[in-house]
Amino acid sequence: MKKSWLIIPLLLLTGCMEKEIKKLDVEMFNASGDSLGTVTLAAQSSGVKMSVSLKGLPAGEHAIHIHEKGKCEAPDFKSAGNHFNPEKKEHGLLHPKGAHAGDLPNLIVEDSGSVTAELMAPNVTLKNGKKSLFTKEGTSIVVTEGKDDGMTQPTGDSGNRIACGEISKNKQGQKKAQEEKE
Ligand code: ZN
Repeated sequence: MKKSWLIIPLLLLTGCMEKEIKKLDVEMFNASGDSLGTVTLAAQSSGVKMSVSLKGLPAGEHAIHIHEKGKCEAPDFKSAGNHFNPEKKEHGLLHPKGAHAGDLPNLIVEDSGSVTAELMAPNVTLKNGKKSLFTKEGTSIVVTEGKDDGMTQPTGDSGNRIACGEISKNKQGQKKAQEEKE
């Protein structure tokens, strides 16, 4: 599992920097700045697959969304802005005028605090364009205290933000540089 994402940054390094990104690791942090694990984004023919592997979360159901700004400032993570919504839709997977491109199914965290899940984000892309996650301001992934009811505006009544990770090509570059030094 881990090996596969190590290979991608190396390929990017050896190749042209403009090469298309197919896979990207997003490290998630809680309000205290502890790393909780990663959400790996993988380009698919329709959308982006998100492989969630996190620890240290409160047990139960939690919402996870892609947000419109690539900034995770603890402790409230309000810097991440609203849900990613390039097509100006209403919030909620169950809403008739929805959903935001950043809306996703809820996560179910085990009693141990761990969660492993695969989610599909069909309305976003790692390529260029309107639905691209690599916007000027960047994008991010946020987990909230409560679950998303799929309907209530603007966030599904999902409560406070408890974890955040920035989606960034540059981060990947930094990580790669670090790995090379080690
Ligand atoms: Zn939303």
